[in-house]
Amino acid sequence: MKQFKAESKRLLDLMINSIYTNKEIFLRELISNASDAIDKLYYNSLTDKKIKVNKKDLCIKLNIDKDNRLLTISDNGIGMTKEELENNLGMIANSGSLKFKEENESKKDIDIIGQFGVGFYSSFMVSDKVEVVTKAYGTDKAYKWTSKGVEGYNITETSKDDYGTTITLKIKEDSDEFTYSDFIDSYTIESLVKKYSDYIRYPIKMNVTRRELKKGSDNEYEDVTKEEILNSMIPLWKKNKSKIKEEEYNSFYQSKFYDYQDPLKVIHTSVEGMTSYKSLLFIPSHAPYDYYSKEYEKGLALYSNGVLIMDKCSDLLPDYFGFVKGLVDSDDLSLNISREMLQQDRQLKLIASNIEKKIKNELADMLKSDRDLYEKFFKEFGMQLKMGIYNDYGMHKDELQDLILFHSSKEGKLITFKEYVSGMNKDDENIYYACGETIDKIDMLPQVEKIKDKGYNILYLTEYIDEFVIKTLMQYDGKNFINVCENDLNLDSEEEKESLKKLNEDNKDMFNLMKENLNNEVADVRFTHRLKNHPVCLVSEGPVSIEMQKVINAMPTDENINAKIILEINDSHPIADKLKKLYKEDKEKFESYTKILYSQARLIEGLSIDNPTEVSNLICELLSK
Ligand code: ADP
Repeated sequence: MKQFKAESKRLLDLMINSIYTNKEIFLRELISNASDAIDKLYYNSLTDKKIKVNKKDLCIKLNIDKDNRLLTISDNGIGMTKEELENNLGMIANSGSLKFKEENESKKDIDIIGQFGVGFYSSFMVSDKVEVVTKAYGTDKAYKWTSKGVEGYNITETSKDDYGTTITLKIKEDSDEFTYSDFIDSYTIESLVKKYSDYIRYPIKMNVTRRELKKGSDNEYEDVTKEEILNSMIPLWKKNKSKIKEEEYNSFYQSKFYDYQDPLKVIHTSVEGMTSYKSLLFIPSHAPYDYYSKEYEKGLALYSNGVLIMDKCSDLLPDYFGFVKGLVDSDDLSLNISREMLQQDRQLKLIASNIEKKIKNELADMLKSDRDLYEKFFKEFGMQLKMGIYNDYGMHKDELQDLILFHSSKEGKLITFKEYVSGMNKDDENIYYACGETIDKIDMLPQVEKIKDKGYNILYLTEYIDEFVIKTLMQYDGKNFINVCENDLNLDSEEEKESLKKLNEDNKDMFNLMKENLNNEVADVRFTHRLKNHPVCLVSEGPVSIEMQKVINAMPTDENINAKIILEINDSHPIADKLKKLYKEDKEKFESYTKILYSQARLIEGLSIDNPTEVSNLICELLSK
């Protein structure tokens, strides 16, 4: 007997011990595997003349053997070679997910199963033993794979008349908690197919026994067993929207895109015109675990008149909408098109641009009509939209700027730029913002207090990318973005400006000494009107803000930049007079004060101090006096 690969074993274990409570979905998973296998064969037959399949023979068959508790799912799809059998069923394709789980032990197991897609292994939720007999198209050997679960599996050679795959499940005995016998009841199976697999494009056939009026009699009945097709075979996306239940969309989404949660939003469209197509798009309710990593592959499945031609066509989605899952089906695309040619295809470009507009409009609608839902979306994928603004030198900023939200000091919640502007006074020219790690920390920034006091609204930027987004936008609706921690906010009256200017000139020598005491780490020292209660703050001048300096210097490159920092002192704080006095009377103490004040300002700004011991000693010295 062969062992499963370690990670598969663990997943199997989870599966059998059934944290995943929705056992019935195993049927949907096996049927969709069967359908995929037929898809592959059919697609090959269209592009390779040597492969001959008769379209009307393609089908999936279900069979129930009540006496032996067996349920069989067979297909005449592409089948598997011995190696494929080994590779596909002996381990899980996406073992990265399990590594992720190990790194995130606290997450619930169910999350992880969701991330895998429950797939073939789900058959172990309902069976004691699983047998797979398969013969790959174009080969003459058939193989049998059997397993009773975690212990391992066997592969032996066997015989099979036709190519394709037959999976036989030995259904578990009923327990107190669960009636497994449902899965060998034809009525249950029939309704499960209707519920989960109705849209499968190939007929799903099963012998069904129904009570019928005996021929020639009008009151005698008999049981008649006939093979019936259980599914409507209309792809979900080709069905009339009004006839589709939410449950159908959700189940389709979950099985097709390996998610264990329902999508946040379904966008189903049918477009007729120059290029006709149908698309079924889903906005997930949560970002996949690898979403913000290199591993994540965006794209939509591409069908040509119901035939899958590509699993993930990345050209159909711009990067900033890369979170969208779904498919596009167009009769106007040629089946024989290669990946390279597809990129150049005019039809495809047109579809892609329509889809982009559609997604954008849907998001804008959601923002307008269902704010809570939009905020949920934004929490998951807002970062992607912000990156979309920032990337490509701001090429897409116009499309995306109205979909972005920031926390507002006035409203205490997330708002759009448009909402900010609509709350401005007529002659206000600036959109104020402040950066920091959290909303609370920004709230405590000395510079923020004064601006709020003057009645202005401030946007709080808490994500590292935020300020880069603002710098890319440069303006919104003709208003300038102003960082409240940057130089010259221009809030004073002319008179106030004059008096401050004079004050600073009068104390020029004192400030020069302070600069010297600080080893010229700051470009300037001066009094300010910017502060209300706090004694000091740091502001930056020039293109690089203090927040940007933090972000860039934290990046794993050699690049280091420094913002031009200015130490500002609140001229109406008692410390101002104290400094002036010390400057005249005690230069040594003056130096200590300068160093302590500067350290304070750095700490408030979220910057580290280079000489913590020295500063701590200075403070202690003052305290003990
Ligand atoms: P997934 O479908 O997510 O890839 P599964 O565990 O369900 O994961 O299946 C693993 C692989 O086994 C499939 O990708 C496919 O290559 C192969 N497979 C499963 N069922 C069949 C089948 N009925 N016919 C041919 N290949 C199959």
